[in-house]
Amino acid sequence: MAKPKIIIAIDGYSSCGKSTVAKELAALLGYNYIDSGAMYRAITLYFLRNDIDYKNDAEVINALKDIHLSFAFNEVSGKSEILLNDENVEHYIRDMIVAEKVSEVAAIKEVRSFATAQQQKLGSERGIVMDGRDIGTTVFPDAELKIFMTASPEVRVKRRFQELYAGNPNITLEEVKHNLELRDYIDSNREESPLRQAKDAVVLDNSHLTREEQLAKVMGWVEERAVAKAL
Ligand code: C5P
Repeated sequence: MAKPKIIIAIDGYSSCGKSTVAKELAALLGYNYIDSGAMYRAITLYFLRNDIDYKNDAEVINALKDIHLSFAFNEVSGKSEILLNDENVEHYIRDMIVAEKVSEVAAIKEVRSFATAQQQKLGSERGIVMDGRDIGTTVFPDAELKIFMTASPEVRVKRRFQELYAGNPNITLEEVKHNLELRDYIDSNREESPLRQAKDAVVLDNSHLTREEQLAKVMGWVEERAVAKAL
């Protein structure tokens, strides 16, 4: 008998390695991986490109009507990439200009309801791994497996720096550190769905785990939850 499909919610601070484990899990299980942060980044990119004053509610509500988000699977990266009004913007949304504004945009109530509704639709048939900040608490409070990821601040800054340096050799460690701290602060202190560990989440601290060790640990949890669901 086929194993029942579950929802895997992965939350945590910026640059904890959520997307790496989410992508590997999805590939192993034949699930869809959805990077919910990419949705907030794409909305931010739209606001920046179109000079939307995101402090003005009416402008935000109007702008959201013109935003269509979708995902397309890229065989090479093994990841579903985000399309903003049918344009693949995966590359642009990683830019520091977007990173500097995304947490302010993601704190807006209307933006969150817009993104959350789409995330819930994507998971309506289960068989999905989604990472973000509020997936286990707000988007899928009934997810069978909730993982809260952590890693030491030093490890996180180093990881993010290495990722960004490839595309922008002018970037400094200090800039990256400041951006991570700022985003974590805004994400944890906003009114709407702040970043919190769900009560029933398991904690994964990957500061000192290899990718293989990490995946083995998480696959153990997946097995447990899938077996429990089948009973
Ligand atoms: O995951 P990533 O770092 O790309 O997310 C970018 C930003 O999007 C986060 O710093 C946060 O402000 C916002 N976000 C969110 N809720 C999510 C996912 C991301 O508020 N579920």
